[in-house]
Amino acid sequence: MIHFQNVSKAYLGSKQPALQGLNFHLPVGSMTYLTGHSGAGKSTLLKLIMGMERANGGQIWFNGHDITRLSAYELPFLRRQIGMVHQDYRLLPDRSIVDNVALPLIIAGMHPKTARERALAMLDVVGLYNRAAHQPLHLSGGEQQRVDIARAVIHKPQLLLADEPTGNLDNALSFDIFSLFEEFNRMGMTVLIATHNIGLIQQKPKPCLVLEQGYLR
Ligand code: ADP
Ligand code: ADP
Repeated sequence: MIHFQNVSKAYLGSKQPALQGLNFHLPVGSMTYLTGHSGAGKSTLLKLIMGMERANGGQIWFNGHDITRLSAYELPFLRRQIGMVHQDYRLLPDRSIVDNVALPLIIAGMHPKTARERALAMLDVVGLYNRAAHQPLHLSGGEQQRVDIARAVIHKPQLLLADEPTGNLDNALSFDIFSLFEEFNRMGMTVLIATHNIGLIQQKPKPCLVLEQGYLR
């Protein structure tokens, strides 16, 4: 599903490249961890896949298309295939849970009533059906992360990316969140999780990409 071929990224004005000569392959239906110290380049790698940053060298293949040279017009088509989960949830505080989850569908043009029905069904999957009418700040951190995940997958993306999704959660909650990623992976989504959580990686072993100062080990 994803091929990196000799991919490098240097930010303007920084001495050292953030990523150098990366080669790897994420097969369709795989679930992979991305680890490495702070500053190793994990977020940069995810941003290259999302088209939020551009590589300076190499090719990134997404389902056979080179996405390193997409135009502004083509980018939304790429992003529609991807769901993104954040460390800090990024929910809209003045909207209900169900509206937060429905929003990507409404923005994509779906009728709001249909979108809310789909969002309710997804909240059921993540175990928050009975909190649908609540506002995000009335939920715990673990619950807010579940809402972020529901929102990330509501448009049924082929690829689910997560950047330190359990960075703000304790061990038990983190385990539940990783179980949820496994569930979406079993449903057919390809999953890539950037994480520092070595304990969880040991509890739920998967293939692992390890970054060291911009290089893949
Ligand atoms: P990680 O997610 O593993 O912590 P990042 O991808 O955020 O690593 O950062 C990799 C390197 O790129 C770091 O040295 C960081 O300081 C640098 N970097 C990240 N974003 C930017 C940016 N927008 N401008 C300049 N340098 C950046
Ligand atoms: P999978 O995710 O099942 O492993 P791939 O991503 O390997 O599938 O392949 C998807 C498509 O991308 C195929 O048509 C393959 O030929 C094409 N492709 C993959 N890597 C390259 C590459 N380096 N150059 C050109 N085409 C490629």
